[in-house]
This record gives sequence, C-alpha cells and structure tokens, in this order.
Amino acid sequence: MIALSARGLYKDFRGFRATNDVSLDVEEGEIHAIIGPNGAGKTTLFNLLSGYLKPTRGEVRLYDELISHLSPEEIVRRGLSRSFQISSVFSSLSVLDNVVVALQSRSGLPAQFWRPERVMRQFEPRALELLEQVHLTGLAGRLAADLSHGEKRQLEIALSLTQEPRVLLLDEPTSGMGSEGVARVIRLVREVARGRTVVLVEHNMSVVAELAHRITVLQYGSVLASGAYEDVRRDPRVIEAYLGE
Ligand code: ADP
Repeated sequence: MIALSARGLYKDFRGFRATNDVSLDVEEGEIHAIIGPNGAGKTTLFNLLSGYLKPTRGEVRLYDELISHLSPEEIVRRGLSRSFQISSVFSSLSVLDNVVVALQSRSGLPAQFWRPERVMRQFEPRALELLEQVHLTGLAGRLAADLSHGEKRQLEIALSLTQEPRVLLLDEPTSGMGSEGVARVIRLVREVARGRTVVLVEHNMSVVAELAHRITVLQYGSVLASGAYEDVRRDPRVIEAYLGE
C-alpha cells in the first residue's frame, strides 16, 4: 500500500523552479530517504509534502487522500507530521513538560485550560511513555535548555510522536552530531519506524545506507533516480552527481 505519494510536483519561486515534475511513492512501513546535493530541492519537497508550501502544480496524497490543498495543521490531523531541523523545543521547560504541553495542545483543550497543574499532569503517563520510546526517561526532569544537541533531536522526535503520525518526516535527523549521536539516532529511527512510515532528508550517506529501504535522489529540482538503495547507489548518474558536488 502506498502511504504517501507525490505526482508531478512543481514549485516556482518568482520564475525559479525549485522542484520540477517530482513524483514519489512511499510504501507503508518503509524508510525512504530523500538525498541530493545542496540546492537540489529537498527542503522544498519536504515543505510541499507537509503543506508548508503549496505546489505551483501537482498533488500530494496521504493514503490516497488529496492533502496538497490542506494547511499543515490539517495534514498533521490526517496523520503526517514532521520533525524540524530547527528546534521546536521550549528551552525553559523540563523535558517532560515539553512533551506534556505538546500532548495538551494536540488534545484540543482550549488554551486557558492548559496551565493549571491538574490538567497538565493528566498527560504525564503518556508523556513518560513517549520519553521511554526515545530513550530520554532518565532526563525527564532536566531543563530542555541543558540537553545536548543529540538529546534535543531525540526530544523533537518525541514531540512529533505526540501527534501519533502514520507517516513521519524527519529533516536531517543526524545533522551536527558526532558518531555516537549518529549511532543513537539510527537506532531510534529504526525503532520509531516500526509500524510507521518514515521519510527522511539525510546528508550522511552511511546513515542512508543503514536506514533506507528506498531512496529518491534529487538534482536541480528533478528526480535523478529512485528505487532500492542498493540499485540507486550504483547508478552512474548518481555517482556522477555526488562526485560533482
Ligand atoms: P536543498 O534542501 O536540497 O538544499 P532547497 O529546497 O532548499 O534545496 O532549495 C532548492 C532551490 O530553491 C535553491 O536554489 C534555493 O535557493 C531555491 N529556493 C528555495 N526556497 C526558495 C524561496 N522561498 N525563494 C526563492 N528560492 C528558493
């Protein structure tokens, strides 16, 4: 079954074509990596998939439902959420309270009811479960500002999971990490991908090799190659595009 598909996506910025007839099929349950040199259109494609940009032409479907005309919030409600490269963590709250607040806002409780302790605490058990999933239980009481870069990325994944996505988009989950952090994120993405579809933009080819079932390579806004990782990495056009970077 196809979880997420894009058909003929074009995005023009004042005459500059950032994505050019991009089509993509992501199977349910797979980890799909979008790769390509800088400026290839990866971020633009992610923005189109998650509704942050509207395509100039073309469409995006989530489980066959047309979503490309919907707002990002409506797309989240339908089961696609996105973890940003730029942090969405509240530094002044504890790790646990970051997740509690995210669960509250998702619950639809009106904002005036968010603050009282009693209401907040009802979300704690679920928040603790999510922290366990991302291996942050031991840091639940820590101020988010005091987390390492890698731990913040783990917390961001927990925040995305509060939306219970069927499809999770991860924007460069290993960026700025040392080898230990990278290994931790690889394990985590594998775990999070159980029973879920994951699409990631990733620069680190060894991460792509470890994680991705299939990849789509973008170059100059177009799809250069797409398919099983092992096949695509041997494609001479892909090798050339990377050597030319
Ligand atoms: P990548 O993520 O692969 O590095 P991007 O999607 O960020 O690539 O960018 C693709 C191209 O589109 C780049 O040449 C970039 O300068 C251009 N671009 C992206 N966003 C805008 C925008 N809002 N206005 C004009 N040009 C843009």
